[in-house]
Amino acid sequence: LSIWNHVPAGPPDPILGITEAFKADKDPRKINLGVGAYRDENGKPYVLPSVKAAEDRIYNAKADKEYLPITGLGELNKLAAKLAYGAESAPLLEGRIASTQSISGTGALRIGGAFLARHYPGVKTIYLPVPSWGNHTPLFRDSGLEVKGYRYLDKKTIGLDFAGLKEDLAAAPEKSIVLLHACAHNPTGVDPTPEQWAEISDIVKVSIQVSVSNARLFPFFDFAYQGFASGDTTRDAFALRYFVSQGHNIALAQSFAKNMGLYGERVGLFSVTTSSPEEKARVDSQIKILVRPLYSNPPLHGARIASTILADSLLSAQWEKEVKGMADRIISMRNELYNHLTHDLKTPGEWGHIKSQIGMFSFTGLTTPQAKALGEKAHIYMTSEGRISMAGLNSHNIKYFADSVDAAVR
Ligand code: PLP
Repeated sequence: LSIWNHVPAGPPDPILGITEAFKADKDPRKINLGVGAYRDENGKPYVLPSVKAAEDRIYNAKADKEYLPITGLGELNKLAAKLAYGAESAPLLEGRIASTQSISGTGALRIGGAFLARHYPGVKTIYLPVPSWGNHTPLFRDSGLEVKGYRYLDKKTIGLDFAGLKEDLAAAPEKSIVLLHACAHNPTGVDPTPEQWAEISDIVKVSIQVSVSNARLFPFFDFAYQGFASGDTTRDAFALRYFVSQGHNIALAQSFAKNMGLYGERVGLFSVTTSSPEEKARVDSQIKILVRPLYSNPPLHGARIASTILADSLLSAQWEKEVKGMADRIISMRNELYNHLTHDLKTPGEWGHIKSQIGMFSFTGLTTPQAKALGEKAHIYMTSEGRISMAGLNSHNIKYFADSVDAAVR
């Protein structure tokens, strides 16, 4: 008998499985709406011109390939914190944000999970929105936290179940951890309004706030789409900055995969606010102790690209324009799809959510059998929960997509 005889075959990854089916399909009309990566007007991957410009500079500087420190490029840690928290942020100005570069957003969440599992003094249970990004559950479980859910999507309205959310967070045991998507919630595309964020902040805080460390729940922000929701990196930082301004201590996972198109370069950051520079130094030392045996130190090239862009005011202004270009193209696809379904085709059902949802994804409301039928009959691939990546649509394929959805729901 072989050593690995007892190892059962695991299920394929639900998202990567879609790409496999898409690749195998030979029909020229085929569309892949499964993958969460931006595509341009011709359905092609997009390398941002600001990224190309940064790469030229890096190449011309003939920099070496030495190891980065355990927590990565110091310059990037500073610039990324400024981008997320804002230049005026109190913990930033007071030098009390502990941070490390990470293997993109996934790595940031994983280091965060491990840090909380080891050092968080409260209840080691993290509450995730239902539904959430599919990787959140195994990721936090593998990092040593217990995973539970709070209500988020109202399937009837395909909008926020705000009453359910508030009830569940208010009922979560004192000192639990709550994961919040900072903007452009994946997979639903449904975000709380600023007023709703303020209410969530109050629920997360203790009712009669004694001190920050007495907050009722500990918020962990997943910020994978800064700039992708509204096209404006500052506007998309509202929820995070509001919480920090309210005195919350927070943890944060950042990613430059989507907003800089640096998917495969794996550039991200984990950070946590602390109460003093002295506490920050202690937390930093423990983050290093976590990272060193995991992967020793993070990748260099993408970190150089991101920091080159963020350090240069002209290049970062260009980048902000390019982010807005991506967000705007997605928003225009939302409007076009809505118009096709509602006005041109008079497709049965209510499609307003296509327009009101935010970010890369739309929760269409298509059922699992409808999503499956679209794959088999129309060569259109999406997740079985009916989530589509809006970035996979463009002026060449949107009419075919709308016609196919129309046929599938009739
Ligand atoms: N968090 C959310 C909500 C995401 O949608 C993603 C990517 O799809 C990530 C985190 C992590 O992405 P990456 O590890 O590529 O930065």
